[in-house]
Amino acid sequence: MPQLEMETGRDGAPRKEAEGHWLNAEEPAPASVVTPWVEKLSQRRPWGWAANAVLVALIISVPPMAILFGVGARNSASAVWIGATNALRLGPATAHDDRRLGGLLADGFDEGACHSRFQSATYRRNARKKPSPYLVTKLRQQEALQRRCGPGTAAYSNALEQLRAGKKQSHTGGECRYLVSISYQGLGNRILAATSAFLYAMLTDRVLLVDPSNQMGDLFCEPFPDTTWLLAQASFPLTNYSSFNIDTAESYANMLKNKVIGTNDNEASSTMRPAFAYIHLNHDASDQDKLFFCDEDQRNLRDFQWLVMRTDNYIVPGLFLITAFQEELDMLFPEPDTVFHHLGRYLFHPNNNVWGLITRYYDAYLATAHQRVGIQVRVFGKDKESPKLLEQITTCTQKDNLLPELGEPTDPVNRPAARKSTKAVLVTSLKAWYYEKLKSMYWEHSTVTGEAVSLHQPSHEEYQQFAAKSHDAKAWAEIYLLSLSDALVTTGLSTFGYVAQGLGGLTPWVMYKPANGSVVPNPPCGQDVSMEPCFLQPAFYDCRTKQAADVSKIVPHVQRCNDTRWGLKLVPRSV
Ligand code: GDP
Repeated sequence: MPQLEMETGRDGAPRKEAEGHWLNAEEPAPASVVTPWVEKLSQRRPWGWAANAVLVALIISVPPMAILFGVGARNSASAVWIGATNALRLGPATAHDDRRLGGLLADGFDEGACHSRFQSATYRRNARKKPSPYLVTKLRQQEALQRRCGPGTAAYSNALEQLRAGKKQSHTGGECRYLVSISYQGLGNRILAATSAFLYAMLTDRVLLVDPSNQMGDLFCEPFPDTTWLLAQASFPLTNYSSFNIDTAESYANMLKNKVIGTNDNEASSTMRPAFAYIHLNHDASDQDKLFFCDEDQRNLRDFQWLVMRTDNYIVPGLFLITAFQEELDMLFPEPDTVFHHLGRYLFHPNNNVWGLITRYYDAYLATAHQRVGIQVRVFGKDKESPKLLEQITTCTQKDNLLPELGEPTDPVNRPAARKSTKAVLVTSLKAWYYEKLKSMYWEHSTVTGEAVSLHQPSHEEYQQFAAKSHDAKAWAEIYLLSLSDALVTTGLSTFGYVAQGLGGLTPWVMYKPANGSVVPNPPCGQDVSMEPCFLQPAFYDCRTKQAADVSKIVPHVQRCNDTRWGLKLVPRSV
């Protein structure tokens, strides 16, 4: 849900972006970090541990040269060879580790209940980032906490009882504390909100419970072994939690304003503190709501046994600005630009139904191509089919050699070597028009490189739908398929694209918003500075100085986004 309105914050800076899903072309994009296309393609091909194990056996029993798959073996054959040799060198523990995404995933799950958890590593050729050992340890601790305090435990029943009785609880050591994350907006927003809530829960030793509304209970496997992360709505005493909003009396901002809770500057006059606090970090959050990102306010929040949070944003870059969390975050994420890449792959496993959609499509249309290019064309129901946008897509992809330029229809196909090279282009969009046009282009013309280009679009739903199960399943499948690309082109400001790039570990080419609707922006796109999603509506406030500030200047690895200069994103330490 990227539509945002322009508003002015207390520093006079616009707090929210003008409506639009395009990147502002009038703003100069930061110098792009050019990752050569070939570099993307040279990433090691994935081979499942099972395939490797078979090949290891073969290698042990057969002289190596005999299994080089004959003269003229394709790249894939040599990749098999490399994969198998690696497996031989590193031993079966590494194959198991690969399947668990470098230790990210816990053991102890039933394979039949969630195929994607066990098979995803064989589909990802681009996920080469490893989680830190500290993150792996911390995840196991969080899983233990979720089991110890989660639904079905005595601790959970107790905590529900306290909440039902409206009892104010002061935090004491052994007590279980909870964070409920409200799920709303489009799927991309929901995934980013739950990821943000999960990281916050880890940092504050809380159990995360996800509101199962809007298919959040239907699209994913459970992330934690032997417990559930889904809030049981029927037994939850705050029956109206899903309609909490900026005016809710228990919001942190309203409690501050009404002196229900105090700060150093503002003594609380009331002892009537409720049993929970509501954290409103929605796109319409006020400056007071955003005090959440200050250390002093975090200390206040610690005392609440129950927190309920609403956000449609990826608030993680804001968490990196809270001093009390910085040391821990540095240990969890020595590479700060991989937060969503790791947590997203840890939390979001397509359920068997969606995994079927993904794997059938991938195996049928994408698996055999030498290169896969994903193009996400985010359009809104009211948008018309736009020849200018089509031109922008072709200019962008051809300028950066993501797709070959078109030759004459009558050009002979005289490059046998190039002809063997195939590119599969996955287009995702609510409309079919862009895909149809691109497909015709590459059918009716030759390519100057001689490459064969095939176009594919899994669905065109025409309009965004809410609370529609099969619509969301298709959206999730398409996000995931985009993440399996070798290179990705996204539409700026779209959380749908953010999730795909993050899961895939891909730094995308982002299409800029045309300054003037009738002219294709120049440049039409640019490669982003990191694979991380953008926090679209952060605070413009430095908690230490208690003044309005450019928050992109506080921590070197939290910088402005390419697609909105008011946003914040995590970038590699060296940028
Ligand atoms: P954002 O609005 O671009 O930030 O992304 P969201 O995922 O939050 O919301 C957009 C919603 O519209 C998606 O969740 C889908 O329901 C739908 N949608 C948008 N683009 C596509 C698409 O390319 N394919 C499918 N299947 N659905 C889409």
